[in-house]
Amino acid sequence: MKTEAVDSAAAGVAGAPARRAARRALLVAFVALAFVLPQLPVPDFWITQANYIGLYALVAMGLVLLIGVVGLTSFGQAAFVGIGAYTTAVLATALGLSPWLNLLIGLALTCASALVLGWVTLRLSGHYLPLATIAWCLALNYSMANMEWLGKFDGILGVPPIAIGAIDFTEGRNIYYLIWGAALLGAAALINLLDSRPGRAIRALNGGVPMAEAMGIPTFRYKVQVFVIAALLAAVSGWLFAHFQRSVNPSPFGIKWGIEYLVMAVIGGIGNVWGAFAGATVVKIIEDQLQVILPRLTGTTGNFETIVFGIGLVLMLKYAPQGLWPFLSKWAPAPQRARDWDTASAFPERERPQRGSLLLEVERVRKQFGGLVAVNDVSFELRAGEILGLIGPNGAGKSTTFNLVTGTLPKTAGAVRFRGEDISALRAREIARRGVSRTFQHVRMMPAMTVLENVALGGWQRGHSGALAAMLRLDRAEERRMFREAERELARIGMADQMHELAGNLPLGRQRLMEIARALCTDPVLLLLDEPAAGLRHREKKALAEVLRQLRAEGMTLLLVEHDMDFVMNLTDRIVVMEYGTKLMEGTPAEVQASPAVRAAYLGTEH
Ligand code: ADP
Ligand code: MG
Repeated sequence: MKTEAVDSAAAGVAGAPARRAARRALLVAFVALAFVLPQLPVPDFWITQANYIGLYALVAMGLVLLIGVVGLTSFGQAAFVGIGAYTTAVLATALGLSPWLNLLIGLALTCASALVLGWVTLRLSGHYLPLATIAWCLALNYSMANMEWLGKFDGILGVPPIAIGAIDFTEGRNIYYLIWGAALLGAAALINLLDSRPGRAIRALNGGVPMAEAMGIPTFRYKVQVFVIAALLAAVSGWLFAHFQRSVNPSPFGIKWGIEYLVMAVIGGIGNVWGAFAGATVVKIIEDQLQVILPRLTGTTGNFETIVFGIGLVLMLKYAPQGLWPFLSKWAPAPQRARDWDTASAFPERERPQRGSLLLEVERVRKQFGGLVAVNDVSFELRAGEILGLIGPNGAGKSTTFNLVTGTLPKTAGAVRFRGEDISALRAREIARRGVSRTFQHVRMMPAMTVLENVALGGWQRGHSGALAAMLRLDRAEERRMFREAERELARIGMADQMHELAGNLPLGRQRLMEIARALCTDPVLLLLDEPAAGLRHREKKALAEVLRQLRAEGMTLLLVEHDMDFVMNLTDRIVVMEYGTKLMEGTPAEVQASPAVRAAYLGTEH
C-alpha cells in the first residue's frame, strides 16, 4: 500500500524508470555535445553563435529565477551585464589589472548596486520594480554613453583576452569553453539552489509570503538575495562578453537589450532553468534571420527586429505563457529525491516550559477594520500543556484573534505576552522563532511543491544552510535531517505515504493535516490550529483528536478554533466563547455546554 502510493507519486513526477533513464541520457548527450562542439569541423560562425547563446543564457537564467520562480520582473539586467563588462574593460586597459581580479571587482560592484536597488524597490509592491529597473537601465546606459573616461559612444577598445597560465582565450573556440562552462555551472548552481532550504523559501516568495513569514522565514531578505543572484549572473556574462569581443560600447547594455533578455526568458519558459538556453537559442537564431530579412522587406535598415520581438512576446504571453519549456520538458530529466535520510540525526528540540506554567497572556487585544470592531478587547490566558478551545459563530473574530496573537495582523490595541516576554510589537516571523506556530483557516501552501517540501518549509528555522552552500551542494547532510524531520511529522498525522505527492493535488482535508505537520516541523511550544478538522471524515477526525491528545501528553500547548462541537467538547480542557468580537464566556466544556448565553449565541437569538 505504502510503496504503491510512493511509486505512483514518483511516477507522476518523474515518469517510468525507462523514460527517466532516457531523459538523463539526453541531458548527458546535451552536455557532451556542448563539450565537443568546438572540436568538430563546424564553421567558426557556429561557434560564435554558440558563444552568444551561452552569454545570453547566463542572463536569461537569472530572469527565470526572478520572474518564473519569484514573480519579479526586471528590465534592467542589461545594465548589470554592462557593469561586468565595463569594469573589466576599464581596469584591464587603464590599469592593466588581471581579468580574474576584475571579475571579482565587477561582481562586488554589481552586488553593491543590486543590493541598493533591491533594497529600495523590492519593498514597494506592484509595478515599482519593473519601473525602477527601466529607470536604472536607462540611467546607467546614459552614463556609459556620456562619460569621457568610459569612451562615450565609442566605448573602450583593446580589451585583452582572458588567460589561464599559458592558455589564452583569444580564439572563439577557446573562449567557448569559458562561456559554456560558466553557463552550465550557473544552471547547475541554480538547480541546486532551488532544491534546498533557501530554495524552498525562495519558491515560497511567489504567493506564499504570509505563510512563509509565519514559519519564521525572512521573505524580504530572500527577495533581495534572488535579485542579487540574477544580477551577478548577468555581470559574469558581461565580463565574458568584454573579453570575447575585446571591446565594449554602450549599445548592448541599453534598455533594448533589457527587453530582449526578458523575451528570451519568456520564450524559453520561465518555469525552468533550462528554458533559458532554449530562449537564448531561439532569440539568437531568429534575430540573425530578421536582420537579413527585414531590411529586404522594408528597404531600410533599423532595429525593426525589436518590434517583431515585442509582438512575438505579446503573442507568446497570450497563447503559451509557459514558453517553449513545457514542450521540451518531456525530454528533460525530472528532479526526484531518493529517500536517503533514514540514518540522519534528529534536530535538537526546544526546551519545553513547565507543565501548568503561564505560557500565553492575551490582554485586551483589539482589532478594528475601519468601523468594524472584529476583536473587542479580548483577554485570556493559556497554561503550558493544556488545550484551549476558541469557539463562536462565524464572524465572531476567532481567526482575527489568531492573527493578532501570531503577529500576522497588527493590533489596534492590547498586549500579548509569551513566556513572560511582551511580543505585542514583534513581526510574525519573530514570534514564530520563539516557538509559536499555526495553521490557517484558508489553507496556505505551495501547491506546486511536494507535501514533503511544504512540510520542510516549517523546518526552515531549524536549519542554517545559505544560498552559496546550497549551490555547491554542501547542504546535503542538513537536508537529510530536514527531510527526516518532515517525514516524521507527516507520519505523526498519518500522511507519510503521501509525502511525494504534489500538495495541490490533495483533497482539502489532507491539505489541512499537511499544514499541521508543517507547523509541527517548526518545533513549536504553542500550536494554534484554525479549524483543523474541517473537511475531514469521521474516522480522520477521531485520528486527529488522538494526535492532538498525544501532543498534549508530550507537553505541547494548543489553541484550537473548531466548529465541530463533539470534537471541541471531547478534546479541550477549557473553552473561550466569542460573539461579535467580544468574549462571551470562558469555562470548562461542561460549563460552556450548560450556558444559556452560549446556546442563544449559537441559535442567533437574544438572551
Ligand atoms: P471567525 O474566524 O470567528 O469566523 P473572523 O476573525 O474571520 O471571524 O472575522 C471577524 C470579522 O472581521 C468578520 O466580520 C470579518 O468579516 C471581519 N474581517 C476579518 N478579516 C478582515 C479584513 N482583513 N478586513 C476587513 N474585515 C475583516
Ligand atoms: Mg475563522
